[in-house]
Amino acid sequence: MNLQSCEKADILIIDDQIDNLRLLSNLLAKRGYRVRQAVDGEMALIAIDTETPDVILLDIKIPRLDGYGVCSYLKKNEKTAEIPVIFLSAFDEILEKTKAFEVGGVDYITKPYHTQEVLARVETQVKLSLLHQKLQSNNRYLKRQLKLSEAAQEFHAQPQIDAYLLHQAIAATYNGIIITDATHSDNPIIYANPGFERMTGYSLEEVKGKNCRFLQGSDREQSGILELHNCIQEKRECSITVRNYRKDGILFWNEVSLSPVKDESGQVVYYIGVQTDVTQRKLAEEERQRYEASVHKMNRELHELNTKLHRLANLDGLTEVANRRCFDETLEHEWRRLSREKQPLSLILGDIDYFKLYNDNYGHLSGDDCLKKVAQAISSVIHRPADLVARYGGEEFAIILPNTPTSGAMQVAQKILEEIRQLQLPHKASKVQSYVTMSLGVGTVLPTLGISETTLINQADEFLFQAKKEGRDRVVSYPV
Ligand code: GH3
Ligand code: MG
Ligand code: MG
Repeated sequence: MNLQSCEKADILIIDDQIDNLRLLSNLLAKRGYRVRQAVDGEMALIAIDTETPDVILLDIKIPRLDGYGVCSYLKKNEKTAEIPVIFLSAFDEILEKTKAFEVGGVDYITKPYHTQEVLARVETQVKLSLLHQKLQSNNRYLKRQLKLSEAAQEFHAQPQIDAYLLHQAIAATYNGIIITDATHSDNPIIYANPGFERMTGYSLEEVKGKNCRFLQGSDREQSGILELHNCIQEKRECSITVRNYRKDGILFWNEVSLSPVKDESGQVVYYIGVQTDVTQRKLAEEERQRYEASVHKMNRELHELNTKLHRLANLDGLTEVANRRCFDETLEHEWRRLSREKQPLSLILGDIDYFKLYNDNYGHLSGDDCLKKVAQAISSVIHRPADLVARYGGEEFAIILPNTPTSGAMQVAQKILEEIRQLQLPHKASKVQSYVTMSLGVGTVLPTLGISETTLINQADEFLFQAKKEGRDRVVSYPV
């Protein structure tokens, strides 16, 4: 029903006299009410069950179930008990009226009725009904509000439960938890949980009122402690790992997360510290570092050994230039490379003049010394990375010059010749000069895979032989 308007109210008229029914229906419909009709008691109950009317006009004498029966039935049912029932009857007798009110009627209209009276009475009941419904709706609203307020009260009661739970949780946690008084200059401990006791061996009673520094004993020079002090100064949170000592003196690594706790005005009043024993992790870390360091050292030694081996395998022990093995390998490698690149490869073979006489004169050790100096002199002339100076054998040296034509190789050979002269190593027995000299042969080829590199060696050797023959202390090659 529309609570705003009486006119749209739903009115059920129950009367077996069709004329009456029609008359009343027209009257009320004209006033804007929605009107339904029923001609007997059972039909009336079906109509009421289908849709609850706002007001019922009920004749007493109707078939099947009379007016009293219908009314009594409605009053017993919670859903319909509040519907106002106005009795209609021709019995204008006091007894009838009394019974009508007894079974729950709200009003009584006697037939024949005046239309104005009917309208007035119906309207009064409609208004009362609307009012009643409004009250009920308000009631429901108030009940809802009450429930909400009860729930709110329950919610406000929650902090007490939380505080208890919080305490239980802190007590149960495996980590050490301490709370310190930040308003006190020494920041003393005011609470420590059983986790702290388990970790440090100290009970709450023993640590209450103390600053946490006792956990470090005399081991105060720690970067973590410095960081901790800075955090407290700046009133910010931090996480550090420090060396601490249990009550029994045993060291443990303590990972501490410290957070300031502020009051409503924003002032730091407490610090809460959560501590975790990370000794096992720390030990494993140290073990790993030691292991890594030893692996690193081993690698370095291996590397050095490798370098040594490489030197041993490739260098001549006396002169420290490349040995014959290295020469052979390099020549073969360069031969292949230059045959692909179609670039010239030159080889200088040098032989110290009258070296047998040198040994005979100055002794073998001096001979060795001379060989070293000659090797150094040759090396000082060679600069390109691909070039190679090698001891070819005895007092003979070979210089591989890749990508070098005869003219270039000749220049290098002349420089070597000059460098050895410059050494001015006395050689009294020499038949060419009073100092150590050398004869050099220069060969150059365009390598091809079909030919062996001995071609180049033979060529250089031939020119060396020619240099000896022509008087030593000179360079011989193809005429450029
Ligand atoms: P030539 O001018 O014709 O080359 O005469 P030479 O005496 O230099 O040539 P020869 O081949 O007759 O002698 C080379 C000498 O070099 C023989 C050997 O005693 C000496 N010799 C070879 N290797 C070494 C060495 O490692 N140390 C020393 N001290 N002498 C060596
Ligand atoms: Mg020789
Ligand atoms: Mg010689």
